[in-house]
Amino acid sequence: MTDLKEIFECTRCGYCCQGETTVSLDENDQKRMVEALGLPEAEVSKKYWRVTGNVVQMKIVDGHCIFYEDGCTVHSGRPWRCAEWPLHPSILSDSDNFETIRESCPGINRQISYADFCRLLKKLMAIQAKIHC
Ligand code: SF4
Ligand code: SF4
Repeated sequence: MTDLKEIFECTRCGYCCQGETTVSLDENDQKRMVEALGLPEAEVSKKYWRVTGNVVQMKIVDGHCIFYEDGCTVHSGRPWRCAEWPLHPSILSDSDNFETIRESCPGINRQISYADFCRLLKKLMAIQAKIHC
């Protein structure tokens, strides 16, 4: 059985939650976050979201996502792109993407080759697809 820990284990360094922009939230993300916070959507939007036209992102405070505080404080309600990171499918099609992501995420196993990483990631994705279908 392939275990996620063979390729990645989050160190909770918080690097991926830093910066002047965040991932955008689709409708399901917005719904999940509202539920996780247990607040009316209008309040969540006012307090936590930066809305530009149709694009909804999380606010940035002091150079990081508003939910970052020694880890993610909205973990169960975080956007799917946050949950997916750093195992982005683009890794599979381009080793440069793998290198770039590996450079920015210390949780990626540095002991295995690109080929082995892709082999294990594909297995995990196949398992996930079965779980969600
Ligand atoms: S950069 Fe990687 S190890 Fe650090 S918090 Fe983000 S996912 Fe975890
Ligand atoms: S929602 Fe959580 S995981 Fe995503 S950027 Fe904000 S603090 Fe990080």
